[in-house]
Amino acid sequence: MKRFGLFIGGKWVSPSSRKYFPSINPATEKPIARFASGSEHDVKHAIEAAEAALPQWRKVPAPKRGQILLKFAGLLRRDKEPLARLVSTEMGKVLPEARGDVQEAIDIAEYMAGEGRRLFGHTTPSELPDKFAFTMRVPLGVCSLITPWNFPLAIPAWKTMPALVCGNTVVFKPSSDTPMCAARFVELLAKAGVPPGVVNMVTGSGEELGEALVASPKVRGVSFTGNKQTGAWIAKNAGVKKVGLELGGKNAIIIMDDADLDLALQGVLWGAFGTTGQRCTAASRVIVHEKVKKEFEHMLVRKASLLKLGPGTSPSTDVGPLINKKALEKVHYYTEVGLGEGAKLLLGGRPAKGKGFFYEPTIFSDVSPKMRIAREELFGPSLSIISASGVEEAIKIANSIEYGLSSSIYTRDISNAFRAIEGIEAGITYVNSSTIGAEVHLPFGGVKGTGNGAREAGWTGVEEFSEIKTVYIDFSGKLQKAQIDN
Ligand code: NDP
Repeated sequence: MKRFGLFIGGKWVSPSSRKYFPSINPATEKPIARFASGSEHDVKHAIEAAEAALPQWRKVPAPKRGQILLKFAGLLRRDKEPLARLVSTEMGKVLPEARGDVQEAIDIAEYMAGEGRRLFGHTTPSELPDKFAFTMRVPLGVCSLITPWNFPLAIPAWKTMPALVCGNTVVFKPSSDTPMCAARFVELLAKAGVPPGVVNMVTGSGEELGEALVASPKVRGVSFTGNKQTGAWIAKNAGVKKVGLELGGKNAIIIMDDADLDLALQGVLWGAFGTTGQRCTAASRVIVHEKVKKEFEHMLVRKASLLKLGPGTSPSTDVGPLINKKALEKVHYYTEVGLGEGAKLLLGGRPAKGKGFFYEPTIFSDVSPKMRIAREELFGPSLSIISASGVEEAIKIANSIEYGLSSSIYTRDISNAFRAIEGIEAGITYVNSSTIGAEVHLPFGGVKGTGNGAREAGWTGVEEFSEIKTVYIDFSGKLQKAQIDN
């Protein structure tokens, strides 16, 4: 079986532990390849390589750095189909979504390539004569990028592309569930012309490598996407540096009594069961107006019961496997919690028989906002239906959780739509569309327990990976004192 080392200083090197771990296909439970179990010593080595590459890389003009990103986008496009198959095999999502994962990486690479010709600062008048003032963007330095498995190409690209265009060098630590996608990702970056040491990759247990990646004073920026507990640990241990956290969600779709129910049905099916519910923006709650609850439930159960479980690579599959056994056990644990809390199980509620980490699409009704299944992120194909008497109550329920990532309302009434836009505490609100579907040129992120204010993608992606330097140029030829001489 193929074995991958660590990618440090532009070379594949053996881990100091000499140990390797397998990446598993979640549909078959068979190993795909073996990957290096990096140690803290290896992370230190990777940080040193990134530090050594920094002075030259930050001097490369940003438009030229952008051209390398554009070349990378071209390589992704050329290899889109094999990459999508790899994503589907290693992570489990169905092929059309796996193609979307690759496309998102292409899109962000192209968008950030263009940022190489912007990286805007501000100019503003000085309060003194013959004095000029402006701001410019400078890189942070060495950045640690820590990513989850659910978008094994798109999320690494969301972080790496802005980091590189801003002139940073990086140590990338991918999820231990999708290291093969990560290995292909760094191979293509090197092929596109990213110089040795600018992107380094260390695989291995996040728990073991975390401190070296996050707490090192040589690391000036940390960007993390993953679960809330890990995010809290990182925030506590990073010290004084820039930290971007993208954590979980418990996203709601509100369906009003005036909504187009057929349209809402499509949005709920896509939001709840797309990517097997393993998106941070997945819809895990439906808050439906009591007048249409019965009708909508009937429509939903009929359609959801037709969804076909299977390997993501099979064209007839609607819902792929969960990522691993632990995830399967977690989803089932929450089914038992829901039953124990008195929720009514309308569909599913058990693992599928046979090999692979498959779980039946699950729907609970008569869920109260206080139940754990209505508040905690379970990251799987399980949906809770809650009823509400009107838009204000629906918004209150939507807000009654600790997260605030995505949200949606289906309504034909413009007043309801604007009440939701203004009232829902979330980083993203969709109207007459599901909770998923972020586009790379718009900011992405959440409020409350979902993050610490960072917004990835779009122009805000550049803000995450750069500092602002303020420059004053005095051409008066004399000492001028601000606040005193004016
Ligand atoms: P984890 O937090 O378990 O893992 C994410 C990454 O962090 C992995 O690379 C993991 O490594 C690493 N890691 C684990 N422990 C530490 C540590 N102590 N220090 C540093 N790194 C560590 O999350 P999951 O992989 O389970 O991802 C699912 C979560 O991600 C969900 O909660 C989901 O909502 C969230 N998510 C959020 C998004 C957003 O933008 N808001 C987008 C996508 C997902 P290893 O794999 O080796 O454990």
